[in-house]
Amino acid sequence: LTFCLKILGSGGAIPAYGRNHSSQILTINGKHFLIDCGEATQHSLIEYGIKPGKIEAIFISHLHGDHYLGLMGLISSMHLQGRTKSLIIFAPRGLKDIILIQLKYSNSILNFDLKIEELDTSRRRKIYEGKSFTAESFPLKHRIPCCGFLFKEKPKLRRINKRLLPQDLSLQNIIRLKNGEDAMDDEGKVIYKNKNLTLPPRISRSYAYCSDTCYDEALLEVIHQVDLLYHESTFLEDRATKAKETFHSTAKEAATIAKKAKVKRLIIGHFSARYKDITPFETEAVEIFKETFLAIEGQDYCVEE
Ligand SMILES: [Zn+2]
Ligand SMILES: [Zn+2]
Repeated sequence: LTFCLKILGSGGAIPAYGRNHSSQILTINGKHFLIDCGEATQHSLIEYGIKPGKIEAIFISHLHGDHYLGLMGLISSMHLQGRTKSLIIFAPRGLKDIILIQLKYSNSILNFDLKIEELDTSRRRKIYEGKSFTAESFPLKHRIPCCGFLFKEKPKLRRINKRLLPQDLSLQNIIRLKNGEDAMDDEGKVIYKNKNLTLPPRISRSYAYCSDTCYDEALLEVIHQVDLLYHESTFLEDRATKAKETFHSTAKEAATIAKKAKVKRLIIGHFSARYKDITPFETEAVEIFKETFLAIEGQDYCVEE
């Protein structure tokens, strides 16, 4: 089953050199979740063949324009395309006013139920529960209230080892095995131990999105050992002072966080318009954390089961 991240936008505050504002699509078991929605998001969705109608929920990290200015256009298109399925958006306080005032002055009444849930950006909290995963928000240190998101698959059940399964086993016993129990006869006596007929569960995959933030070791506990980490790296070390002043990070800092949190893979993005060539970001980060990849628009970053 799928657990893939697609980058829709990899640029910082000003779109430059073909890099759009922040936006990503996380696809878990065929369902789409949009993370941040910068200006060109709906154009990228069209370009990469992702149907907006299939987006289940939207997660907005903060209210700097480069992370949400694409929302109104996307919502309008969903309406025009006849969406009837309700949509939930998670965002820091203020987004509800921003969206409602635009709907008011354009005299729009959406044909779907739009729910905007405002987040407490000061603490870590579970905000969403899907069938197979949960999403949490957690605080990031930026110039305005800002949060990251942690998506984590729920623990999975052990898997039946078909090769070892006795042919005469009842359906009831197969269900028992799937639930982690032993197989029993009618008298309740154990006939097969669970561990002898099953394989360990598949891993529960995880993805953490650290949007705009300065270097912050408070993140380590939240993102500890995630399979995939996105961490902004607006600047290179040559502008470390600038990064500090603006509550952003450098490639080296993003890689240090990834290393200290022992994550499996790091994606860096939110590249400043000051840099035309972004390969030095990779060079700088890889020196600290080998499994670093640049956020490239249109590219998928999948975690195997
Ligand atoms: Zn930004
Ligand atoms: Zn920002």
